[in-house]
Amino acid sequence: MKKFIFVSGGVCSSLGKGVAASAIGALLEGRGLTVRMVKCDPYINVDAGTMSPYQHGEVYVTDDGAETDLDLGNYARFTNSSLSRENSITTGQVYEAVIRKERGGEYLGRCVQVIPHITDEIKSRITAVADADTDVVIVEIGGTVGDIESVPFLEAARQFIHESGEGNALSVHLTLIPEVPGGELKTKPTQHSVKSMQQQGIQPDLLICRAPVMLDESTGRKIALFTNVEPDAVFTSYNITGTIYEIPLIFFEQKLDQVLLRKMRVESRHADLKPWYTMMEKFRARRGSVRVGIVGKYMELHDSYKSVYEALFHAGLAAGVEVALAKIDSAALEAAPDSEGVLGKGGEDVDAVLVPGGFGERGVGGMVRAASWARTRGVPYFGICLGMQIMVIEWAREVLGWKDADSTEFCQETGHPVVSLLAEQLDVTDFGGTMRLGRSESAAAPDTLVFAAYKEARLFERHRHRYEFSNKYRAAMTESGLRISALTPDGALVEAVEWPDHPWGVGVQFHPEFSSKPVAPHPLFRDFIIAARDRKGKG
Ligand code: GLN
Repeated sequence: MKKFIFVSGGVCSSLGKGVAASAIGALLEGRGLTVRMVKCDPYINVDAGTMSPYQHGEVYVTDDGAETDLDLGNYARFTNSSLSRENSITTGQVYEAVIRKERGGEYLGRCVQVIPHITDEIKSRITAVADADTDVVIVEIGGTVGDIESVPFLEAARQFIHESGEGNALSVHLTLIPEVPGGELKTKPTQHSVKSMQQQGIQPDLLICRAPVMLDESTGRKIALFTNVEPDAVFTSYNITGTIYEIPLIFFEQKLDQVLLRKMRVESRHADLKPWYTMMEKFRARRGSVRVGIVGKYMELHDSYKSVYEALFHAGLAAGVEVALAKIDSAALEAAPDSEGVLGKGGEDVDAVLVPGGFGERGVGGMVRAASWARTRGVPYFGICLGMQIMVIEWAREVLGWKDADSTEFCQETGHPVVSLLAEQLDVTDFGGTMRLGRSESAAAPDTLVFAAYKEARLFERHRHRYEFSNKYRAAMTESGLRISALTPDGALVEAVEWPDHPWGVGVQFHPEFSSKPVAPHPLFRDFIIAARDRKGKG
């Protein structure tokens, strides 16, 4: 019997619902269950592909090339849930499907309504996520109870819980316990939030209270009394100073997984959380730090490069150092009188440079500067997607002396289009769905840093880009020394490049950040941080 857990949130947004849902997934996996994670996003966009990273944060790309909400990245970092376009359900998709069916005459002349047609579509999409070996599907409902947009999803959850029978579908509700001046913790917002859930017809089975500190027993009992939740099913997600990756263990120590198993009527089984405890040991054992300059254009919002930052943190666990981020606005670097002033802030150089993915011309000059700075000083450099294209442009300009070298994304008239669209994509004008998207294979050349990281020639990573290394310049580039470290298996496209005579300068056309986990740091990020650590160590 497959089980379903609906995770909703109340009081306010940004309480860490995605992390809580993911941590529950990690705990259940620790109990040997096969978990699938789903995000229901109340927005009307069909997917996140057209949303600005300034407003909505990173677009997370799945293996099958879906451009989804960044919450899926949390699922990937905490759990082994397979993730595809099915794991991200948006209002836009649901309405699109229902309207398509209506136009196709599938509703046989009936009046098409939110209940039951929209809710049926939501329920069937949730059910579809569970494949043959799935034990538990964890469904995170975006937004906050009380939001207009969330109503159809909560109504679908209510029906689902009602139809599934006792123990087969549960509600976990996350709320906030604020502290008022004077230090007192207030449970009233939680009581109201649960009342809103009850008004939607859902009685939460478990409550997770975000609070500054661990709630004492009497507060827990009081909350239980007011909300109809059993006292041992009220948990605290208290503020932590360390890392969000400790949250599965914080829940475990409160026996959250035991209570869930009991309520799902799954017989208790051995818990193995060793990888998480080992990870926390590594976290505490870190010594020293390296400072990585991230040179990008979406620096204001932390979430814009979420997976990159997380992957750097994971790499620090592997390298035994703390990774400090120096967020450098590429446009500011472009405008600065010299690179030194920005990358060597106040005389103190960053220990490594990372240029992440991006679109559009703004700030590209600053990224090229950052690449030159790192290349000529032997500072470890990691270029991801656009960051690799920057490496190619910089090489052409500075080593080959082609001062006009550029990507056709930024300059159509250049005499040296070293990065350009694939021929068959040349007349693509329709944004969305025209990119090279999703997981594919690359072949790493022997004796390269890329091969050394993966320890094998075949690698599988996700893509999200339109432009490519221009093949007509391959000979000139390699003859002048730039190494091509990976190609597509048919040899048609360049997937990675690296600098010769440099400690660690690697650019990849794909996005390794999407597959890094705290319990399994990505090998390229790991080697990048190790290179930064070793270079710093040498002083
Ligand atoms: N803008 C570049 C392209 O479309 C790079 C994309 C990216 O970095 N994700 O190819």
